[in-house]
Amino acid sequence: MASQTDAARALQALAREWEARMEPEDLARARYRERMRVARFVMVLVWAGVELLVWLPTGWAVALREALHGNAAWWRTGLVVLIILAVNHLLSLPLDWFFDYRLETRLGTNRQSLGGWLRDGFKQMAVDVPLRAALFTGLYVVFRRWPRQWLPGILVMVLLFLAGVYFVQPLLVRWQYKVKPLDDPALQERLAELFRRAGRPFAGIAVQQVGEKSSKAGAAVLPRGLGLQVVVTDTLLESMSPAAVVAVVAHELGHQVHRDMAKLLLVLAVALSAGLAVTYQVLTVWGAWGSLQGPGDVATFPLFSALFTWLAAGLQIVLNAYMRRVEYAADRFALEVTRDLDALEETFEALGRENKALPLAPRWVEWLLYDHPSLARRVAALRAHAARWTAS
Ligand SMILES: [Zn+2]
Repeated sequence: MASQTDAARALQALAREWEARMEPEDLARARYRERMRVARFVMVLVWAGVELLVWLPTGWAVALREALHGNAAWWRTGLVVLIILAVNHLLSLPLDWFFDYRLETRLGTNRQSLGGWLRDGFKQMAVDVPLRAALFTGLYVVFRRWPRQWLPGILVMVLLFLAGVYFVQPLLVRWQYKVKPLDDPALQERLAELFRRAGRPFAGIAVQQVGEKSSKAGAAVLPRGLGLQVVVTDTLLESMSPAAVVAVVAHELGHQVHRDMAKLLLVLAVALSAGLAVTYQVLTVWGAWGSLQGPGDVATFPLFSALFTWLAAGLQIVLNAYMRRVEYAADRFALEVTRDLDALEETFEALGRENKALPLAPRWVEWLLYDHPSLARRVAALRAHAARWTAS
């Protein structure tokens, strides 16, 4: 117990020191980002209710189903779902503008014009909407034709959907940002050495050209065909020393070694199926309200969509807890393979600076909304891990 309070005190001290090193303006921006993060979470939940009110009490969802004979064929159902999804997407545009474009512009991390931002948003929509439409259309077909097999039906559709996301998402990223091979022989050699030490084949690192659109820095493991590729942003290369870049790549390599992508997809499949199963149950009760004809009726889609948004927010909290654990593990891997605590600390400092992130978020905000632990918590955990390993 005593050591736990000591650790908490050390963490607070670490965060205070960190904040003292930051420019007062950057600290204020980080606090603003934090408040907006909470506001966005709440607004997304409220907006789902607004969209529901737009479609159901007005009778528009039922009118659309009538006009298109939405329950008569799978493609008619798909058309209704597609129209409702696209309209909802446009309805949420002001929200996206406020919490994405306007926020990042005020924080000084945005480098894109409004037109450029809208074009990227359109690309996102062109990928997201058809994928989601395919999922929900498939579900309605299952609910109508095989109502008794609704649960296996949900499982099959979720697996198909996740497979679609897995293959399409990286294409979207490459559509929005150019990707180049790393043009730095010295760094290239250091990274190759890192992969040798970890016993992994080195396939080169791709550099994502985000610099013209944003100053935010990041790195990721992206699926490429059936394999995985480490991608770092050009902004990351600009803002960090070579040792720190090696540390970042070591962290991403940790995700590969731990097979985190495959595990995450599995966890997502379970969470999505559970969420949809609960939604289906609610639809069997509420989906017959007014002129709605039960869970197989595509006119229930606005209700389906809102219920699912609310449930997904709850599931996201559970998923975030899982992802934060995964991040700690990748950090430990990076430390063990590089043995360079200073470089890792430098990466967190630079990430905080470039992304205008708060070193230590309030506990409840982190619990609710963070898929990565606060930067100060990551540093504290690494220091504790390094201390254990020097002691042994
Ligand atoms: Zn990570």
